[in-house]
Parts: sequence; C-alpha cells; structure tokens
Amino acid sequence: MAGYLRETDFVMVEEGFSTRDLLEELTLGASQATTEEVAAFFVADLGAVVRKHFCFLKCLPRVRSFYAVKCNSSPGVLKVLAELGLGFSCANKAEMELVQHIGVPASKIIYANPCKQIAHIKYAAKHGVRLLSFDNEMELAKVVKSHPSAKMVLCVATEDSHSLSHLSLKFGASLKSCRHLLENAKRDHVEVVGVSFHIGSGCPDPQAYAQSIADARVVFEMGAELGHRMHILDLGGGFPGVEDAKVRFEEIASVINSALDLYFPEGCGVDILAKLGRYYVTSAFTLAVSIIAKKEVLLDQPGREEETSSSPKSVVYHLGEGVYGVFNSVLFDSACPAPILQKVSLPCWACFQLWDWLVFENMGAYTVGVGSLLRGAQTCRITYAMSRVAWEALQGQLLPAEQDEDAEGMCKPLSCGWEITDTLCMGPVFTPASII
Ligand code: PLP
Repeated sequence: MAGYLRETDFVMVEEGFSTRDLLEELTLGASQATTEEVAAFFVADLGAVVRKHFCFLKCLPRVRSFYAVKCNSSPGVLKVLAELGLGFSCANKAEMELVQHIGVPASKIIYANPCKQIAHIKYAAKHGVRLLSFDNEMELAKVVKSHPSAKMVLCVATEDSHSLSHLSLKFGASLKSCRHLLENAKRDHVEVVGVSFHIGSGCPDPQAYAQSIADARVVFEMGAELGHRMHILDLGGGFPGVEDAKVRFEEIASVINSALDLYFPEGCGVDILAKLGRYYVTSAFTLAVSIIAKKEVLLDQPGREEETSSSPKSVVYHLGEGVYGVFNSVLFDSACPAPILQKVSLPCWACFQLWDWLVFENMGAYTVGVGSLLRGAQTCRITYAMSRVAWEALQGQLLPAEQDEDAEGMCKPLSCGWEITDTLCMGPVFTPASII
C-alpha cells in the first residue's frame, strides 16, 4: 500500500451488510436529528471503484489508466485511485493542486486541457507537470513562452456526432491541420510526444474508438516524418459508468484491443493510456435527498390560479438539492436521474411527506467537485464505505480469486458487501423539472 488511503478514511462494511444498509442507517439518523439541517448526502462505495479498476485491468491490459479529476474530485475517490496506482488528468491549476496535495507526484499528472490559462501553464512548469495537451497554434505559443520544457500531446478531433456530449465542438485539431501544427511545433522546438482524442460521452458506437485510433496512426506517421519522437497514444474517456449502458465496457474494450493490435501492435514502443472519468465513479455514489416542500399543481396549466374541484392535479415535490448543485448533470450531461424508494419510506409516490428521503443511484459522475471547485465549498456530505473484501483486494492489488475465474461476471458484484445490489422499486420517475 502506498498510504494514500487509510482505514480511517471510510466505514468498513463487514460481511452480511451492504452500503445500502449504511445508507438506511444514515437516513434514519438524519430523520431523527432535531436540527433538520441535512437535506442531502452521498454514500460512496469505494469498493465499487476498486472493482471497476480490476475490470479495467482485465479488459484493457495494454492501457495505462489516468483519472479525469473534473468528473469527481472528492478526496476518497482521489485517494483510492492513487492507491490503485492511477495517474491523474487535470483540466486546470485547482485540479493539479488537489492531486498534488494528497501526495501524487508530478510525473503522474497530465495537464490535459487544450485551452489553458497562462497562469496555470506557469503553475505546471513550476511544479514539474510536464505533459500538456494542445490543439492550436496559440496554445503552442503560450507553452513556448511559459513552459519551454513541456512535452506536448496533440489533441485530435473525433467524429462524435452520435455521442451525447460532443467534445470535438470544443476540443481537437482536424486531421488536416495536424501537419501544420506539427511543423510549427518543430520550428519552435516544442517536443510533441503523442496524440490524444476523446470520442465524447455516451457514444453508442464503439467503432468510434477504432476510427480514432486509425486517425492517430496517421498523425504518428506525420510526426515521424517531421522528426517528432512520438510515443504516447491517449484514448481519452467516454467509457460507460453504469452496468446497463447501451454499449458495455467489455464490448468497447474488445474493439479497442483489436484496433490497437492493428495500428499500434505490442512492441511498437507506444505507451497507450486513457483518461477515464464516469467509468470509475458513476455507480459508486448513491445520493439521499429529502423532500423539503410539497404542493399540488394543476396538471395542464401549472401557473393558473382558478381551479375547480374536477381539475386534474399533480403533486410536485421539491428536493433539498437541485440542478445548480448535484443534479447539474441534468443540464450539462443529459442525465435523467430517477429515484428509488427507501425501505423505510412509504411505497407510494403520491404520499411522501416533508423530510422523507429519496434515493438516487449512479450519482458519482459530474456531481461532486464541479460546483465545489467553483464555489469553494462542498455542499453535500459524503460518507465513504468499503467492504472488507474490497479493502483486502486493494491491499493485495489482486483480483479476488472467485471473481477472477468468473469471466462472465468479472465486472459484477462479488458479495453483498461489495456494493448495492438490491433494488426495491423503480419509481415513476421524477422529471428533471421537479428536481429544482
Ligand atoms: N478527458 C477529457 C479531455 C475530458 O474532457 C473528459 C471529460 O470531459 C474526460 C477525459 C472524461 O470523460 P468521461 O467522464 O466521459 O470518461
């Protein structure tokens, strides 16, 4: 163990219990508290993060994993991933500071934002972060001036029109402009050491990775012709974070492995890495939110004053968190979170009362850290938990034997203590409009 994560950082969940039991206990405690101050909190199963990494190692053995800090920068997540030996992909100075603060060496950090603030480039230079990305001439000029010893990764645009979020709108040089950029870099004595891409999040077609890997090969050839010694291929993120994703992680991994064998075969001297965000954290975080207000509205014309007894009505619940807080994924990430019923709550969607709790699973990605980095404060308390079996697996950095043998279920829960498994009732869905 490298010592990033300690036993005191989380609640140890012993065999026979699950993180769901812990969540029930915490909601009960919060309901009984006289202050009514806690309106929302997370339970984070760090064992689920460990399991995801073992699955990653098994499915993509040639790929070195970096974690995209912007996805969830909570300390428990950063520490467990550092413990697992991951590198960190940072988008700005605040993220670099955060991971350096927990002791991650600069050699394990990539400043992977093609559009950087000069002060942040200077921070990277001063603190030994040498791997940076770029996709345009102006960025090159900034780096020449502020970080001359930087090693640059050229970020190439992808065909991401089918993805839920289109990162190539913002980031990535077209294949056409790559030669020109590589020439300019050579002229300015900037070392270009690799190529990166990001196929966008929620991409329904794993072939997008294969196409981008093929494009990257073309850019490697260009770089070699111009005298750049390129040895890094960065596959970006976009890997699904939930088990029931349209395209499963294993399917994507298989497409990637075939494309790598074709374009970057083993022994070709290229270090393959990926910068995953949602893959690691989505399913690990469960959110409990209390109902803070309840009112009846007319179903068709919610703003109208006049009503008759026969007017159809609907109940609107207001929750203790909203789209400008942990539900920002509704606005920015096309998410549509649906609550499940707590065991202790009444099993009826119309008869909730104030301070009843709703539970939302799969809440780990782009919910924690995004706002807090901007506002400088963490709004929702996070209770970290891990089963003893996951803790022991982390200490040994080994896949537990029973899981190792089960090829089919290798990414499935190992025991009831590993992560939440029991679903009580899928509810009729609180529309994003009601989560305000
Ligand atoms: N890499 C870069 C450059 C990103 O901008 C992002 C997210 O926006 C990621 C990686 C992580 O993406 P995901 O959470 O889809 O894995």
